[in-house]
Amino acid sequence: MKAISVLGSTGSIGTQTLQIVEEFPDRFRVVALTAGRNLELLIEQIQRHSPEVVALADAELIPQLRQRLQLLESQQRPQPLPELLGGTDGICAAAAWSSADLVVTGIVGCAGLLPTLAAIRAGKDLALANKETLIAAGPVVLPELAKSGSRLLPADSEHSAIFQCLQGTPWADNARLSTGVATPGLRRILLTASGGAFRDWEAGDLIKATVADATSHPNWSMGRKITVDSASLMNKGLEVIEAHYLFGIDYDDIEIVIHPQSIIHSMVELADSSVLAQLGWPDMKLPILYCMSWPERLETPWRRLDLAAVAQLSFRQPDPAKYPCMQLAYAAGRAGGTMPAVMNAANEQAVALFLEERLHFLDIPKLIERICDRHRVDLMAHPCLEDVLAVDAWARQAVREAAAALYSATPLAAIGV
Ligand code: NDP
Repeated sequence: MKAISVLGSTGSIGTQTLQIVEEFPDRFRVVALTAGRNLELLIEQIQRHSPEVVALADAELIPQLRQRLQLLESQQRPQPLPELLGGTDGICAAAAWSSADLVVTGIVGCAGLLPTLAAIRAGKDLALANKETLIAAGPVVLPELAKSGSRLLPADSEHSAIFQCLQGTPWADNARLSTGVATPGLRRILLTASGGAFRDWEAGDLIKATVADATSHPNWSMGRKITVDSASLMNKGLEVIEAHYLFGIDYDDIEIVIHPQSIIHSMVELADSSVLAQLGWPDMKLPILYCMSWPERLETPWRRLDLAAVAQLSFRQPDPAKYPCMQLAYAAGRAGGTMPAVMNAANEQAVALFLEERLHFLDIPKLIERICDRHRVDLMAHPCLEDVLAVDAWARQAVREAAAALYSATPLAAIGV
């Protein structure tokens, strides 16, 4: 029985992980849950899974959580009550919980960085969904992995596809996983992208893009931030950097291709020019399950792929003019050091402002570019954790100031969105 900790249990990744635990009660049990603020769902999850520890990012909600658990009818109350922890320290303690075998990282954004490091330092294997952590702090995370011997198993569907394809090669060497060392025999990665919410929009129509438009993904059901990242293709850009760190591959050898059906989750080209692909319906449960069961594969009753029903698998080049975030991510990745952390923080802040309807969709890449340009003179090639946290905070503040200045003359409402 594998003991699982779920960071971000109330989110899209977290709830799907818990569904898998419920489907395989003989294989998995939950020992730790962490959430941001969603008490209703968290209490339900505590009742169903009886974890040993629960942590909430918002520490002020802990007394309310304790009281509500104590007030539950005795037959609905988990026995014993879990240990309750609050704030970032509490989440880090839950992430490092001693009885856990695998930590699923479903926290959104760079807020996942310290808990991820805590899990790595405790020697836990991780199912990495929270890509922002690796993008912001690759130069910090990789040496910590090497030191602790933890393995970073990719839960992102594209990186899971690459990982699954590589299992079938003569060079499969799982000790090499996420060490940043080049995977032998891997010549090229083809990252597939659905094209997001604006896939079928003309670039010129994006001036009319609203929050409702950007958060309606054609193929995947995900949290709001990653859905906006998919619409701008920043998500694919972040995945390029993620692939660079996970598989040690050069940026020149990572290619993005739009694949509207989201059936091929990514491909690898090997030394002999053979291309391997992994296929399946767009459903995050499969890559999450593979992290949880790896190196085994479990039998599931899940819907089987029906290629005749899919009928067509098509591909096209992404338009760089329509998706400027993609190029910004390649440039930040190539600059290395603290630049990906700055780009990631600028994107997180810009997307948050967009979701609050305080920034236009088209201004997201403009602000990211401006902040990255400003950081160029201060770039640190070999940052430590404190450097990453400092540039992250700087970039968020710089975006807030730039956005306020941008709309001081022309309020956003005047643009007519
Ligand atoms: P959601 O927004 O659905 O969930 C985010 C989770 O993080 C929630 O449990 C939320 O808690 C918690 N959280 C939010 N802020 C904080 C904080 N400051 N400290 C601690 N916890 C916090 O996101 P997703 O599940 O969509 O995405 C999670 C991660 O997985 C992202 O990095 C994303 O890029 C990645 N990913 C997601 C995929 C998907 O299909 N959803 C696919 C591939 C990768 P609460 O709601 O209680 O406030």
